[in-house]
Formats: sequence, C-alpha cells, structure tokens
Amino acid sequence: MSQADIGLIGLAVMGQNLVMNMNDHGYTVAVYNRTTSKVDDFMNGPAKGSNVIGTHSVEEFVATLKTPRRVMLMVKAGEVVDKFINTIVPHLDKGDIIIDGGNSLYTDSNRRVEELSAKGLRYIGAGVSGGEEGARFGPSIMPGGDPEAWPAVKNIFQDISAKVDGGEACCEWVGKGGAGHYVKMVHNGIEYGDMQLICEAYQLLKNAGFSNDEMHEIFKKWNTGVLDSFLTEITTDILGYKQEDGTHLVDYILDTAGQKGTGKWTGINALDLGMPLTLIAESVFARCVSALKDQRIIASKVLQGPGVKFNGDKEAFVNDVEQALYASKIISYAQGYMLLREASETYKWDLDFGAIALMWRGGCIIRSVFLGNIKEAFEQDPDLDNLLLNDFFKDAIHMAQAGWRRTVIKSIEIGVPTPCFSTALSFYDSYRTEVLPANLLQAQRDYFGAHTYERLDKPRGEFFHTNWTGKG
Ligand code: NAP
Repeated sequence: MSQADIGLIGLAVMGQNLVMNMNDHGYTVAVYNRTTSKVDDFMNGPAKGSNVIGTHSVEEFVATLKTPRRVMLMVKAGEVVDKFINTIVPHLDKGDIIIDGGNSLYTDSNRRVEELSAKGLRYIGAGVSGGEEGARFGPSIMPGGDPEAWPAVKNIFQDISAKVDGGEACCEWVGKGGAGHYVKMVHNGIEYGDMQLICEAYQLLKNAGFSNDEMHEIFKKWNTGVLDSFLTEITTDILGYKQEDGTHLVDYILDTAGQKGTGKWTGINALDLGMPLTLIAESVFARCVSALKDQRIIASKVLQGPGVKFNGDKEAFVNDVEQALYASKIISYAQGYMLLREASETYKWDLDFGAIALMWRGGCIIRSVFLGNIKEAFEQDPDLDNLLLNDFFKDAIHMAQAGWRRTVIKSIEIGVPTPCFSTALSFYDSYRTEVLPANLLQAQRDYFGAHTYERLDKPRGEFFHTNWTGKG
C-alpha cells in the first residue's frame, strides 16, 4: 500500500538519523539499504515502535511511496549515487523526485538534473550539514536542482531542519542545477578554514606555555564573545577532555589530518573561477603538510628555527590571538562569499547570499553568531561586493587589526607556523592596496612573451608592447 511520504535509501549514520528526524515530525518514511540486514537492525533498533517502513527490495520500497514519489539517497557520494539512480529510475513515473542528500560534487548534480529531466523526472541535490546530531535533531539543508521539485519537498525539509532567530528554518531553495551541492561544498571549505584557524590559535597558545586546562578556559571564554560558534564550543570540550589516568586525550592524538575532498574541490573551483580563496586553500595545504609526519620528524632534527622562545605578556597575547582569529575568520568568509558571488554569475544561479548565511547560521558545523552578522550585511545590501566593505565588518577588522598583526609578527619571531592567520593578513593588505606590483609583473610578461600591457595614462583596453632589449 502506498503510504510513505518519502523514502530514504542508505541507512548509515546520516540516513538513520534523518529518517528518525522525519518520523518525529510526523512523516511516514520508507527505508531501504543495499545490505538489507541493516534495514532489520534499524527496524529492531532505533526505529522500533516508530512509523518507519522497512523494505528489502527496490520494488517493495517504491511500492510503499505516495505519488509523486520522493526518494532520498543518503549513500556514499560518487558512483554509488549513479548506481542507485539507475536502479530506481525504471520503477519511477514522470514527475517523481529523486533527492541526493550526500556530499556530491556539484558538477555531478548538474549532470544528474539534466539527465533525469530528460526522462521526465525531477532531481534535487541537497547539501546536508550537521553530522550525526544535526541529522537527528535539525541539520542545515541546502537544496538545489530542478525548481519544480522544491514545492513537493519544501515542508519536509524545512520541518526537519534546524531553526534559528525565533523559528526561521536553516533550509531554503538555493538555485538550479548543482547550486545546492556547490553551496555545501563552499560551506565545507569554510569549515576547513575555521578549523585550521582554531588550530593555529591552539598551537600559538600552547607554544606560549598555556596548559590544556588553561586553553580550555580561554576557548570557553572566547565562546561567549564574537567567536561564539559550534567549532569553538567543541574545541573547549576537546581541550578539557581527560582520559581515565587524568591525562588529556588531545595530547595523544597523532598530528596528521585526514580529508575527504570537499576542501580540495573548493580550492580547485576557486582557481577555475580566478577567485583568491587563499585562506581555504592554505587550510587544505596545512592538512597536506600535517600528513608528511615522517618527513617532519626528520626535518625537525635537521632544520633550525629562530631559536627564540615566547617571553611576552601572556594575558595580552591571549587577547591578540583572539583578535587574529576573529579578523582571519572575517577574511575567510569574505573570500568565501567572493567565490559564491562569482559562481552565481558564472553559473547563472542567482544565489541569495543572505539566505545562505541563514542556512549556515544553525544546524551545520560552521554555525555561529558571526553568521547572523553576515546575514544582516546582505539584508542591508544584497549587492554588497565584499563583506569587508560592510560597515560592521570594516569596523570589526579595524578593531582587530593591531592584535592580528602582533600575533603574526610573534608567530614569525618564534617560528610557529600560522599559514591561515598570515595569508589572511596578506590578503587584507593586498585587497586594500591601490597599486600592487603587478605593473612589474606585466612588464616581465611583455618582456619574455610579448603579452602586452595596459598603461595608467591611457584608456583601459588599449594594449602596448615594448621591445625591452632594443634588439631586433
Ligand atoms: P557513508 O559511509 O558515506 O555511506 C554509507 C552508505 O552508502 C550505506 O548505506 C552503504 O550501504 C552505501 N554504500 C556504500 N557503498 C555502496 C555501494 N558500492 N553500493 C551500494 N551502496 C553503497 O554514510 P554517511 O556517513 O551516513 O554519509 C552519507 C552521505 O552523507 C555521504 O555522501 C556523506 O559524504 C554525506 N555526509 C556525511 C556526514 C557525516 O557526518 N557522516 C555529514 C554530512 C554529509 P551498505 O550499508 O550496504 O554498505
């Protein structure tokens, strides 16, 4: 009997929690998984006593769905998504909807929207963020794809998503094609940046002699101010977490970072679009450097640093590092929104930047008070070219600037790496510099490759070439 409001395929951690979230909101959900024993485990475990319908074949699964059928995939991104689409499509009718909630590459979603539209089916690529807990109690959801599918899933998605500011759902239609997955990709890139910035603050404070317990208190305090965010909160918990013998677990964790690729994709796309996403790119490279553990062990014994230890005012340093973290974070989001703006124009997505800030404001990993300020900035001026030109952020970065510079200077002096603090400051100084040395660079290009140059004293668009050596 067709009674399920929506069907979900993929009963790993995200799928199971989304299903229970939908069930809590009164939706009847049918579930299926490649390994069907996991359906039984789920039905006898978390879903026991719920309205969830467990199925053991694609045929049985599809037969339980009300029309238009809504099928959500929560499986491993990549080929597995195409495999399931190919399996399920012969069982669907025109107007039915497939939603991919995994971390798919946006170009795959562009392709899938087109392919399925040609078959009369509607496709949504929805980024879902918030991990296990978000999925269970309110994730941030970033849906894009075929706009005609949105009304059929809007209520379900907005009901189950996180709510902020007195009930606003952290889920809104993002745009056509792969726009939803694109925005999720940039979210993940920003997440890489935020995490690396926190790690640089930790490394500096540790080097200045603060204990884990002291840093736990510092992060706890920071979490009550402008840095109030999920990632600051979990860092506070991590720094306070002790093993049974009283030692801090964080000190026993191998310092090589993993990555699944969304930060890399963001960096690659920024290069493709010519956008200076320097902080996120550095955060990906920082993970790459961390992975060179064996080489770093050897290098640490061979390569010398400045041989200077921190010997300044520790309390003042804590304040400076807080300012550096805040200012760098502003740069990271300014760069992220520059990328979103360029993508919106290039891919003709007409992105709503304020709505994106709202979607990221709750439920997801980068959720923070700060995103409320970004939402306000775009509400004041939807055409804002750069967050740094908004009064709130301009004043904030001016206030933080002195401490930020002192932090970077100190890190250089004592030889502690701060790739993201430093690149953020370089970007800030580049962005606010009217005349950069690209005049010399253009001359070099013209010298060796006759690439021509424009002149300051002539109209833009007129190109000149010089025979720099005077030789024929
Ligand atoms: P996952 O580990 O990415 O994927 C597991 C699911 O994919 C299982 O249902 C598994 O079925 C299925 N699967 C894997 N290989 C398959 C194959 N060759 N053929 C058929 N099915 C296959 O699960 P997840 O962590 O819950 O994530 C689901 C999606 O959400 C992913 O795209 C992930 O990137 C994204 N995501 C995850 C998180 C997170 O915190 N985990 C957060 C946001 C987004 P079997 O049980 O049969 O193996």
